[in-house]
Amino acid sequence: MIRLEHVSKTFDTVSGDVHAVKEVNLEIQDGEIFGIIGFSGAGKSTLVRCINLLERPSNGKVWIDDEELTKMSEKALREVRKKIGMIFQHFNLMRSRTVYQNIAFPLKGSGLSKEEMDKKITSLLELVDLGDKKDAYPSQLSGGQKQRVAIARALANDPKVLLCDEATSALDPQTTKSILKLLKQVNEKLGITIVLITHEMAVIKEICDRVAVMEKGKVIEEGNILEVFCKPQAKVTKDFIATTSNISRIYEMVDEGSALTELKPGQHLVKLNYDAVNTSKALISEISRDFHVDTNIIFGNVEIIKDSPLGDLVVIFGGQKEDIQNAIAYMEKHDVKVEVLKEC
Ligand code: ADP
Repeated sequence: MIRLEHVSKTFDTVSGDVHAVKEVNLEIQDGEIFGIIGFSGAGKSTLVRCINLLERPSNGKVWIDDEELTKMSEKALREVRKKIGMIFQHFNLMRSRTVYQNIAFPLKGSGLSKEEMDKKITSLLELVDLGDKKDAYPSQLSGGQKQRVAIARALANDPKVLLCDEATSALDPQTTKSILKLLKQVNEKLGITIVLITHEMAVIKEICDRVAVMEKGKVIEEGNILEVFCKPQAKVTKDFIATTSNISRIYEMVDEGSALTELKPGQHLVKLNYDAVNTSKALISEISRDFHVDTNIIFGNVEIIKDSPLGDLVVIFGGQKEDIQNAIAYMEKHDVKVEVLKEC
């Protein structure tokens, strides 16, 4: 678990003090994917750099599990940082080194034999699906492939935590999707906690469990993504949602019943009406439990655009047709208007 207690960071600049992070308290649980969002300059990067103490907080404490990092010497921190991988928007690979050498770099001094090192790097390359690129140089790779190398390098020391600073911002939507899928796999297969800074709504919706919204150095709002995006409390969250998500387009696609998402056989794309949206959400968990229906909310209502049809909840239901029909009948009995947009 990562715990930040009253963390602040002030930069002393020629034009005066810049309070980049102010009194942040956060707890990030083991194994979760936690998003930090906010507009540019909100303090997201500085806060994340405070987690591995690349920036030493001016005040406050940082804990990972039972260790207080803010009390440690630089030497001790160097060891702890091995257990905290980090990836960046522009990949930060060493251009004059091959893929293999880039991934091997953090393993220097690890005491691994040549064979162990080879084995380790081969398995990392397989994990990131770059088995055939070990001798390539970064200039010979696409953006997505470079980020895969960076992920492999960040995982070389078997970290417990992976910090991702705008890791998909330089990538096209398709590549972003594949990198997010890889991060999700890393999280699920290896149990690594992921902290992810982004200004892209799609990223948050795709993989985050919980999210914190930052403004002017402070965490303004925090919660699971449905709570935060379906019932945003703070103005900054509403503004963020309004300006960063391509909600209208998403909704059009859902409405057309077209390829918002590829449905697998047996899946139904279902729209639940806004007025009953909170009831719907409560019912959805009951349904998953009682009707053998898988539920995956792909698009929640957004209060700020209440008057538009965007206020609905769009869910993929998967399972036996009969179970889905029973679940739908059950929802309708609870006054939730259900519309099946697409069935596969
Ligand atoms: P974000 O990641 O949300 O865009 P940052 O954490 O990069 O925000 O920056 C927060 C504030 O701190 C900004 O005003 C930025 O200019 C300032 N800042 C960040 N790093 C430094 C630094 N090394 N020296 C001085 N000011 C900084």
